[in-house]
Amino acid sequence: MAGSLKADFTRRFAGGPVVAAALDLPLDPPRVTVLFGPSGCGKTTVLRCLAGLERPDEGEIHFGDERWFDAATRLLLPPQRRGVGFVFQDYALFPHLDVAGNVGFGLGRMPAAARRERVAAMLDRLDLGGLAGRRPRELSGGQQQRVALARALVREPRLLLLDEPLAALDAALRESLRDELRQLLLQAGIPALVVTHDRNEALVLGDDMVLMNEGRVLQSGPVLEVFNRPADAEAARIVGVETRQPGRVVALHDGVAEVEVGTARIMAVAPPGIPRDVLVCLRGEDVILQREPGPASSVRNRLAARVVGVQPAVPLTRIELDAGFPLFAWVTRPGCEELGLAPGEQVSALFKASAVHLLPHEAAHASPQR
Ligand code: ATP
Repeated sequence: MAGSLKADFTRRFAGGPVVAAALDLPLDPPRVTVLFGPSGCGKTTVLRCLAGLERPDEGEIHFGDERWFDAATRLLLPPQRRGVGFVFQDYALFPHLDVAGNVGFGLGRMPAAARRERVAAMLDRLDLGGLAGRRPRELSGGQQQRVALARALVREPRLLLLDEPLAALDAALRESLRDELRQLLLQAGIPALVVTHDRNEALVLGDDMVLMNEGRVLQSGPVLEVFNRPADAEAARIVGVETRQPGRVVALHDGVAEVEVGTARIMAVAPPGIPRDVLVCLRGEDVILQREPGPASSVRNRLAARVVGVQPAVPLTRIELDAGFPLFAWVTRPGCEELGLAPGEQVSALFKASAVHLLPHEAAHASPQR
């Protein structure tokens, strides 16, 4: 399918919330796009409007050269004519039907023999063959998730929409099924839009990402680019960049800026035209902690830092430092023990100039991290 899925619409809810979508997703070759943002930012609403389950108040939705929605002409193509497969957050399987019945449900008009054949092939493809006669309550969470995906895929949709497909699973299973789901989506060869508010899930599942907050799209692009190069301070906060501090460029040599941050000076690769007042963004995984002091070089920053806080998390421990400005680092648990990291301890914090992402920042509105 050539062209792209283009959506530019607004959905208003009684009581205030407004969700405005602005998407342009190429359909060929098929890619997996994650719709990422905090809870309540409007991700499910966007998905439901694309599926035709909800009617936007304004705007348009186009799929290739088809028009699915146009507020101006009051056009609303019904869900069944969009050729979309939808996987609901809670899977919405029919409890009274077995696996084969659930998967075949949407093939109502097909002759019985052809339907059985199509369902059997789909069950095999998703490794569900041995479970055809089981009811949903007799399945594990992961198996239910695959049945929901099989039910969406069996109708050979042109677009797959998945709303938090792993959210109903416990944490351990969620982790192991992330890779499996990515493989299934690639094998399906259908453009997919996957809603998630989980960073790891977004990184594993997606080729591209649409970043949302408070009902608006903030940024779109390849997943790693959005995560590593957020477009502004709000995007940096939403994608979870831990260190976000206002700074001032005091010198520029050969594309490397010397930036005053708090009482420290750091080197950062400078995008062209960077203004004097900047927001310094740095991911915790790009900061290395060492015990020994030593010299900095043009590519590496080495700052003397004091440990302020140690917050164990899974799988890494979050270290809060005072390096002349608040700085965050992620360290493995053995690393923490080896370095003897505890509040008050002195360490060296190292990071590359290229790991620092500088954003233009209004000094007057400088708002260091919350
Ligand atoms: P989550 O990740 O928690 O599922 P989300 O990003 O998918 O959240 P939506 O479910 O799309 O967010 O909701 C967006 C906003 O619209 C929220 O403020 C929500 O309360 C509101 N909203 C959603 N559906 C309705 C509705 N039917 N009536 C009124 N408000 C609604």
